[in-house]
Amino acid sequence: MVPAAPSQIAAHHPPFGVIYPRTLDEADIKEIQSWYADAARRAVQIGVDIVYVYGSFSYLPIQFLSTDFNQRTDGYGGSFSNRARFWFETMECVKKAVGNDAAVATRISLDAVGYGGVKLEESLKFIELADPFLDLWDVNIGSFYNTAEITPSRNAPTYYMREYTQHVKVHTRKPVVGVGRLTNPDLMVGIIRRGELDLIGGARPSIADPFLPKKIEEGREDDIRECIGCNLCLQRGAIGTGIACTQNATAGEEYRRAWHPEKFSRASNADSTVLVVGAGAAGLECTRVLGERGFEGIHLVDAAADVGGYAAMAASLPGLSEWRRLIDYRVYQIQKLPNVELIKNTRLNADEVLAYGANIVVMANGSHWAADGFNHVTRAPIEGHHLSHVFTPEGVLLRNAKIGERVLVYDCDGHIMGSGLAERFARAGHRVTLITPLAKIAQYTDQTLDSPDFRRTLRDLGIEMLTSVRLDEITESECRVSGRAAAGKRFEVDNVILVTSRVSDDSIYRELRSRQAELTSRGITALYAIGDCVAPRLIGECIFDGHRLAREIDSANPRWAIVPRREPAFVS
Ligand code: SF4
Repeated sequence: MVPAAPSQIAAHHPPFGVIYPRTLDEADIKEIQSWYADAARRAVQIGVDIVYVYGSFSYLPIQFLSTDFNQRTDGYGGSFSNRARFWFETMECVKKAVGNDAAVATRISLDAVGYGGVKLEESLKFIELADPFLDLWDVNIGSFYNTAEITPSRNAPTYYMREYTQHVKVHTRKPVVGVGRLTNPDLMVGIIRRGELDLIGGARPSIADPFLPKKIEEGREDDIRECIGCNLCLQRGAIGTGIACTQNATAGEEYRRAWHPEKFSRASNADSTVLVVGAGAAGLECTRVLGERGFEGIHLVDAAADVGGYAAMAASLPGLSEWRRLIDYRVYQIQKLPNVELIKNTRLNADEVLAYGANIVVMANGSHWAADGFNHVTRAPIEGHHLSHVFTPEGVLLRNAKIGERVLVYDCDGHIMGSGLAERFARAGHRVTLITPLAKIAQYTDQTLDSPDFRRTLRDLGIEMLTSVRLDEITESECRVSGRAAAGKRFEVDNVILVTSRVSDDSIYRELRSRQAELTSRGITALYAIGDCVAPRLIGECIFDGHRLAREIDSANPRWAIVPRREPAFVS
């Protein structure tokens, strides 16, 4: 269908300019308002208690209110009261349709934040005038063009909407609900006590932990699986593969795989002992779920003094400290399980794994960054990678390599690591050049909404950024590159950081797989690999992998995922 709008202005978001709406005439408006009323009546029939006339994120009601969308000259355009007319009338229709059987709410974006659209002053005026029509206000910020409401933790602290939402209460007699990645019960209580909101809303916090309210009610605050603000949920929703969550492997799998976020059945092979090697994200999650499934004895063994693997490295980058929750939540849960023992500072080789005495072995050894600069662009190493001033992220983050004043970061990955290291060096006073063969800096983060604000931060820090530029050779004195953006430039630096490609640490797993007879003779009935050890990937995918194996470890062939149900059973 052709979209409907107050005025015919082509869309200003992908695919930019080729989607035109039709301008609604007054008869269209009346018809659409009758659809709102019909929908509200149907909602009440199925028992819905609150019906929204949704107006945030550039939905139709706020399009009418905003001069950015509304350039009409009839009774629905021009003056403020004319622009507000569509929304008022629609709320009135819905109120009439539901009577006293449901509350009527509306969600309004208080400020488009830095873009064209409704601003705080006008939205507060709207709230005052519309107050009699409804029962509950739901307030946020941003628009379709500036998704400030769904800001990742890298760009904004929790409750980042306060500067807007705190003004609403004095303009209404109705209760107000607000959001802002609120996961902390103390913060929630503070907001209510200060009178800034009446109700705490949670979208991402509820995806990460659907039982968040229940856990607060039961005084189990430490069990809350707090959202880390990574926006994988949004990215997966946007690309149409269905929702997923870094923190909560069961998100979107409740029906498909029948995974309840908090309930675990005892495994049919729970009388086995299990050795999990590697306490990164995948190993921690697998251990947690195996523990919940009642295995007799589970040892989680890690070579490092601190657990977390790649997730811990990621969380040490600027702005990503909330990602530490991935580790803290799992370690806390594991510590409560009497059947799990966490053993650190212990590196196991294949012989030691064989002799360990476990019935089931899960290898979760993780991955490392390629030291030779191998990458997916040239499919080859980079000349000069062996020189002493060249490091990988591990050299910087784990071994504290001494870095000189001028640093060049070469990022073929496009996610958090290359740009995160560049930011870290710049904040520490280094002169930083960030080059990438990709078309954009931190290209992947376009999908998680980090990029607009984040790239601005990198620019403000004075980082020289070049895209579509390839690092061909490193010498003692300079870096040789190719690409139009680098033409005529010389790159004389003290250090080079290669963020080019990750490599699975799977040698022990592969050796064990080749020693099948010894596995059998030692009583090892099953050997698995999970997470980056199988293939480097996003942390959320590693957590999912660990969770998946533990959930299905008593299935016919746990190495491969059980095919999920695809169709919802609407009719039984
Ligand atoms: Fe939060 Fe990330 Fe989960 Fe989304 S995917 S709910 S941002 S932890």
